[in-house]
Amino acid sequence: MKRIYLSPPHVGELERRLLLAAFDSNWIAPQGPDLDAFECEFAGEVGVPHAVALSTGTAALHLALLALGVGRGDRVITSTLTFAATANAIAYVGATPLFVDVSRDTWTIDPDLLDEKLTTSARNGTRVSAVVTVDLYGQCADYDRIEAVCRRHDVPIVEDAAEALGAIYHGRSAGAFGACAAFSFNGNKIITTSGGGMLVSHNRDLADRVRHLSAQARQPAPHYQHDEVGFNYRMSNLLAALGRGQLQTLPEKLARRRLVNESYRIALAAWPGIAFMPEADYGRSNCWLTCMTVEPSLFGVSREQIRQHLERHDIESRPVWKPMHLQPAFERCDITGGAVAEELFEKGLCLPSGSSLTEEEQGRVIASVEECRANARTPGCVAVG
Ligand SMILES: *Cc1c(COP(=O)(O)O)cnc(C)c1O
Repeated sequence: MKRIYLSPPHVGELERRLLLAAFDSNWIAPQGPDLDAFECEFAGEVGVPHAVALSTGTAALHLALLALGVGRGDRVITSTLTFAATANAIAYVGATPLFVDVSRDTWTIDPDLLDEKLTTSARNGTRVSAVVTVDLYGQCADYDRIEAVCRRHDVPIVEDAAEALGAIYHGRSAGAFGACAAFSFNGNKIITTSGGGMLVSHNRDLADRVRHLSAQARQPAPHYQHDEVGFNYRMSNLLAALGRGQLQTLPEKLARRRLVNESYRIALAAWPGIAFMPEADYGRSNCWLTCMTVEPSLFGVSREQIRQHLERHDIESRPVWKPMHLQPAFERCDITGGAVAEELFEKGLCLPSGSSLTEEEQGRVIASVEECRANARTPGCVAVG
């Protein structure tokens, strides 16, 4: 039996054709027509006028903060429940991350705690330079409330939409919020260029600045003039061709991920002790990963017992992100709240959710979860944990 992965790349004949066409055109070097077209098509998809294709989503976050003038000694608030790249980008510019807990009903940054942290920071005279929101597992943060809070405190927002391409918030697409937003095309994301990222913005100057910084801050002079230190963060034309193909198949990928999510809910949500990541009524998740929480006293086995049982059946699943304030790399950083993220980490499990997951494979995953529970209830056959 084939191993079932959490969220493997899903590419097809269209991508193969576009990639080889770019190869045959000899536009191998960084720039080229596919890069321009990918930026243009991506901006159209998100409904934002400017897009800059980059080597990774992390690079997009890094340059977003630089373009906003965030630097050494500054303080930047972000959600503690995220992938390390969000916090790493803050550290790259020499700023200090301040972590804030998430709401139980969205798993994204808690707007009340954000307000509280911004208020106490202002009172103490320790200004916050930016807020990086995270659209977790493809669900947008609560932007009406976050934008109101940040406007009141006059702090810019960077949207980490790395996981959220195709998600909707009150009719607007993920990526349309804040000063700018970052997307990722890493191999496990909803669309992939093997590795890649995109910065989008409503602000032309900001996008131009990011484009400049991403190309070694090279000025238009024949002798390569540089007025500041830049980065080599551009996406290559070959990968942009792959990305264009992936973008064309986004509607099917979104539909398939949602169906996978619904099938898990139908099969598992009725079990006592099982709950799924709530979908907030303000929008529509892209269902990047389907995540559930397991209450061991009710379900009979723990998240970790299930994860290990799945692994023994060659099924990859993962705990929900380990909160940043629990990571050794960031353990001395400030945290506001934290108990919700800690509980989600302890009880949360991300299930295989790829758009190429077949019905039969998903059946195997569901059967394994149920088998794990049944084993624990059979005397003399205790699930290893
Ligand atoms: C994947 C991811 C990133 C980083 O993207 P890369 O393209 O892998 O650099 C950033 N933030 C979040 C929340 C992510 O999930």
